[in-house]
Amino acid sequence: MLCTEVLDALEPIAAGELTPDDRIAAHLASCPHCAAALEDARRLEQILQARPMPRAPAQFTSRTMARVRRARWRTEQFLDLGFNVTLGLVLLAILGSVWLVLHRSGLVAVSNDAVALLGTGLVTLARRVAPTVPLYAGATALLVTALGIWWWAERELT
Ligand SMILES: [Zn+2]
Repeated sequence: MLCTEVLDALEPIAAGELTPDDRIAAHLASCPHCAAALEDARRLEQILQARPMPRAPAQFTSRTMARVRRARWRTEQFLDLGFNVTLGLVLLAILGSVWLVLHRSGLVAVSNDAVALLGTGLVTLARRVAPTVPLYAGATALLVTALGIWWWAERELT
C-alpha cells in the first residue's frame, strides 16, 4: 500500500468518521511517516473540537432570505423587460408583415370595394393572394416564435 493512499484517508480517520481497515492499520504500524501524520491530524482535530463554535449573528436567516428575495426579484425584472422587448419586436415584425401582405395582395383596395368581392372578385383575390403565401408563412412563424418565447419565459419564472 502506498503512503499517498493512506494519507488521503487520514483526515476522516482522525475525525472518527472512518475506521482504518486492516491494510491501512498495517501500513500505519509499519510506516513512521504516516503514523506521525495521523498523530498530527488527530491533534488538529482536537484543537478544532476545543474551539468555541461562533454563533450566527442575530437575524442572519431573515437578512439572508431578504437578500435572496431581492436578487431573485431583480432577475425576474430583467427577464420581464427582456421578454417584453422581444415580444414588442416580434409583434412589430408581425404587424409589418401583415401590412406588407395587405399592401401587396391589394386587399386594402379590395376592402374598399367590398361589393366586387362577391363576384369574380373572389377569384381575383385568390390569384392575388397566392404569391404572398410565403409572407403568411413568415408571419405565422413569427407568431409561433413569440408564443415559444412567452412559454419559455413563463417556465423560467415559475
Ligand atoms: Zn506511509
